[in-house]
Amino acid sequence: MTRKYLKKATKTATSDATDVGETVRTILSDIEAGGDEAALRYAEKFDRYEGNVLLTEEEIAAASDAVPQQLKEDIIFAHDNVRRFAEVQKQTMQNVELEVVPGFTLGQKVIPCRAVGCYVPGGRYSHIASAIMTVTTAKVAGCDHIVACSPPRPGVGIAPAIIFAANLCGADKILAMGGVQGVAAMTFGLFGLPKADILVGPGNQFVAEAKRILYGRVGIDMIAGPTDSLILADGTADPFIVATDLVSQAEHGYNSPVWLVTSDEALAEKVMQMVPDLIADLPETNRLSAEAAWRDYAEVIVCDDREEMAATSDDYAPEHLTVQAEDLPWWLERLQCYGSLFLGEETTVSFGDKASGTNHVLPTSRSAKYTGGLSVHKYMKVVTWQQATRDGSKSVAGATARISRLEGMEGHARSADVRLKKYFPDETFD
Ligand code: NAD
Repeated sequence: MTRKYLKKATKTATSDATDVGETVRTILSDIEAGGDEAALRYAEKFDRYEGNVLLTEEEIAAASDAVPQQLKEDIIFAHDNVRRFAEVQKQTMQNVELEVVPGFTLGQKVIPCRAVGCYVPGGRYSHIASAIMTVTTAKVAGCDHIVACSPPRPGVGIAPAIIFAANLCGADKILAMGGVQGVAAMTFGLFGLPKADILVGPGNQFVAEAKRILYGRVGIDMIAGPTDSLILADGTADPFIVATDLVSQAEHGYNSPVWLVTSDEALAEKVMQMVPDLIADLPETNRLSAEAAWRDYAEVIVCDDREEMAATSDDYAPEHLTVQAEDLPWWLERLQCYGSLFLGEETTVSFGDKASGTNHVLPTSRSAKYTGGLSVHKYMKVVTWQQATRDGSKSVAGATARISRLEGMEGHARSADVRLKKYFPDETFD
């Protein structure tokens, strides 16, 4: 490989991780010991919020009234797409049965988790779409109790459009609490909520770390931390579109890496010239995030050919992967590691982030090496069962007893033996 770096990151998600773990552990153990009161203290400290945290029906209705009609229609459109795609995905999860030997039946059953905690980020931006992505999929999966939790804006509460979206998509309760305290409230069952069986949703490094630490006592969808995005572009790509798309993803946060991997050095240079101007043209908050992300985390890599580009992309295992290159079927076939793939110039990560219908809760920090993004599947437990006739049990008992004895597990062997003796008293077995 002869990857040439025209721009190299000075920081990575891993280099940032050090202090966050300690902070998150302290907050979690304070809240576990101190319950509702401790969670409220952290809400005041981090979000300067002292209002009601569990929203009432009246508050939900008032929020809905405050959302402009066009935005409501857009949220309904996005919800409909996410719901319909989730319903199709659910069809791939089937109960199955197999008579493995005559009289011995094995089965797989798919059961949704009961209680779900959906984290909807809201620190820097009001992530309306995260409410749609998390709550809708939980509802389609068939979960019994869905909590949507999102940080209140200081002194005000959750953005009305997030409340409208969470309610539309099927949240049973809406909790105005952000960060680690929100995650803890759903996990420990504070404020009268059921303890979550699984936590889903994206968030900043504190939220992602809290989910990572709590994993085991509660299920999690995946590590969905600060967004990262990679664009694969060959000489046919439009540098202005590539630059615009890189900037659109860098605005997520100061620590959101964007990577350009190309086989065309001239294209890379044009893009690198355009990006600073496009960033400078953003509103101030977005500009500051994108500037820092581009300066510290972005990379521009020139490869010899498309095979090397694909291998580079698989190494980075980006959350969002865009291909703006010839021969899209080749890329779809070849690429292995990504959260969600955007093929061709006519689509963009923003479509998937907001409204097209695939889920935007996706694996970050290279976790796309081993997992995909949020889908109905994440909430569904695939469990197994078995049932046998007496003849069926006879077919399996001999092998069971012999393997057990070889392992030194006499108790296991005897539970097979007693059945043979009971059901076939006139026969002898080795
Ligand atoms: P957020 O809701 O994730 O975090 C806000 C909370 O962070 C606050 O409520 C506060 O309690 C807590 N917090 C802030 N500073 C803290 C500190 N010093 N110590 C402890 N807690 C602290 O909102 P955000 O910060 O805007 O982050 C949203 C994140 O979600 C971004 O990083 C974005 O990239 C990511 N995201 C990821 C995906 C995905 O699928 N991976 C999708 C959308 C957004």
